[in-house]
Amino acid sequence: MRMGLGRPEESVAPLRELLMAGNRGVVFTGAGISTESGIPDFRSPGGIWSKFRMIEFREFLASKAAQREYWHRKFASHDAVVQAKPNRGHLAVAELVKRGKVSVVITQNIDGLHQASGVTADRVIELHGNTTYAHCLDCGREYDLEPIRRAFLADENLPVCKTCGGVVKTATISFGQAMPEAAMQRASDETLACDLFLAIGSSLTVYPAAGFPALAKKNGAGLVIINREPTGLDDLADLVIHAEIGPTLDAAVNP
Ligand SMILES: [Zn+2]
Repeated sequence: MRMGLGRPEESVAPLRELLMAGNRGVVFTGAGISTESGIPDFRSPGGIWSKFRMIEFREFLASKAAQREYWHRKFASHDAVVQAKPNRGHLAVAELVKRGKVSVVITQNIDGLHQASGVTADRVIELHGNTTYAHCLDCGREYDLEPIRRAFLADENLPVCKTCGGVVKTATISFGQAMPEAAMQRASDETLACDLFLAIGSSLTVYPAAGFPALAKKNGAGLVIINREPTGLDDLADLVIHAEIGPTLDAAVNP
């Protein structure tokens, strides 16, 4: 069954049916769910990543100048993340987790909005890390960003780990940095265990993450795609909805 290319409201009933029929769903989210909370899609044209030169991970490690540039870039986009609140889409996903319909949320987003919407941290698998806090690259100790920001904006003071003296960076996965192995493995295990895979707000073109929906489908799970634009995997899905995420999910979860 491939539906949903007509009017979005006609897709809500089949979406609800699939959600209710499933026993172990996996939700996979990309930037599209968070743009509805006012967080810019950093990868889009005009986004922050096209205004600033890319800083690769090994460059960050190699030079203090690159680290300063990194933190300047981070704090230029920081307010949008700090001020953002979960939207109806995040809340509907949290409700599905609460009802036991969804086991985990796998996300490409780094904004922490799934946790802010009420999904416990142990049920959120962050493939690209988290930008709402920092951590030591050597010992893993976590740090709040606000003191780092104050010190950096005062005199470009670079954060250093208080425990081991290591380099401190936001807890995100940078370009050139290895994908987090444990998170990738867990995402793969959950994908293979699910009976319904919902890919939400992702163009499904960034690999390896975009491999999960295809893996779920190949393994016999149902596949639902909700995204404003067509995605690379629309032809594979059982249900495709090209519409705003928040109103669509909310209508299906809370009729
Ligand atoms: Zn440390």
